[in-house]
Amino acid sequence: MSFENLSLNPQILTNVKFQGYVEPTPIQKKAIPVVLRGRDILAGSQTGTGKTAAFTLPILNLLAEGKPGGHHPKALILTPTRELAAQVAESVEKYSEGLAVRSTVIFGGVGINPQIQRIKKGLDVIIGTPGRLLDLIYQKALDLSKIQYLVLDEADRMLDMGFIHDIRKIINFVPKKRQTLFFSATYSSEIKSLADTLLNKPEMIEVARQNTAAETVDQGFYRVGKGRKRALLTYLIKSGDWHQILVFTKTKHGANRLAVQLDKDGITATAIHGNKSQGARTRALAGFKENKVRVLVATDIAARGLDIDRLPHVVNYELPLVAEDYVHRIGRTGRAGCEGEALSLVAEDEVKLLQNIEKLMKRKIPLKHAKGFSESEKALEHNAKAKSSIKKKQEGSQYSGDQPKAKRNSAKKKAYPWWKKRKQGKKT
Ligand code: AMP
Repeated sequence: MSFENLSLNPQILTNVKFQGYVEPTPIQKKAIPVVLRGRDILAGSQTGTGKTAAFTLPILNLLAEGKPGGHHPKALILTPTRELAAQVAESVEKYSEGLAVRSTVIFGGVGINPQIQRIKKGLDVIIGTPGRLLDLIYQKALDLSKIQYLVLDEADRMLDMGFIHDIRKIINFVPKKRQTLFFSATYSSEIKSLADTLLNKPEMIEVARQNTAAETVDQGFYRVGKGRKRALLTYLIKSGDWHQILVFTKTKHGANRLAVQLDKDGITATAIHGNKSQGARTRALAGFKENKVRVLVATDIAARGLDIDRLPHVVNYELPLVAEDYVHRIGRTGRAGCEGEALSLVAEDEVKLLQNIEKLMKRKIPLKHAKGFSESEKALEHNAKAKSSIKKKQEGSQYSGDQPKAKRNSAKKKAYPWWKKRKQGKKT
């Protein structure tokens, strides 16, 4: 199926071609006709599958065919992070080139006045994060009473980030009669209940198996002691001659520290997290996209929604506590059909987290070995085996050093036949 078969406006088709898209991705093939028919959708789609165009193209088409003009926005796209809002806005701009559709992006961390001025000029599409949108609504700078199309992008992440109340408040300002498009990579009961309250007889659209990573991502993990992680990461980057690597850490502090250490190892790196100003985050991302910086070290929240074309490597320096975050993390690579690699560095206390991830994805992640690091890995395995065999012996044998010698010997004979034989051999 080609884009021409999707009954899209000729100008939109031109814009899509200009982006170099040859054919629609599976989510686009399924979602675009349904949205054009005016139906609500509940879409379970991995990030990186082309979902932004899946909702943007039909909305632009509907707006282009509807009555032009009007002061207040007709489409509202809610996203969890500033970066994702900026990226969606960029896509909206590209896809609406040559159409009479006005759009803007709204998020916190930057001055509110330019945003107010922009809204005053009149808008068709507004893309934003919940907090700043609410501020603008309360200041009466933004009127959502003319919204016809509402999109919740990465709804699961919005809930994880605690936006549920803000979302519900915003929706109170949006007309009940509207078309709602709901996107989420994972489905918890909380997500289902939010979807139930927002959607009207939605059509379910699913392209990848739920909670599984894009098929193009090659996954693997290394068992490594905590103290050896940085050396292993440096080794992997240098020996593999990797050039664009997104590395995830659990904490902001950890992200900063690792970026500094990698720099010392001769690998240019920068950290991106919520404590950095919007300007610093944008600069860090731009430097990474332009290959000026080899490694971007990020926390989950900061990395949400980052769209870096053909990102080849994602490394989980630490596994996330929530298994779903793993799916989001590795979704940064292997985007839109490109091959990517997602590797995890797993210390002993993270083995349980790895098992949870494998359970969620319903597949085993292969163990990998790095030259020179097998020693520490073997030692780890050896230690684990040794520990478990000591435990088994303690559980299996009834003797303990506190018992009288005769009793200890009889228990030993039962537990260890070779010991009994040795004793007998000594007597003869
Ligand atoms: P998304 O899942 O919306 O973040 O999109 C991921 C990437 O896929 C973006 O870089 C898009 O530009 C790209 N993309 C979207 N649709 C297509 C398509 N039909 N063909 C090729 N690339 C696409």
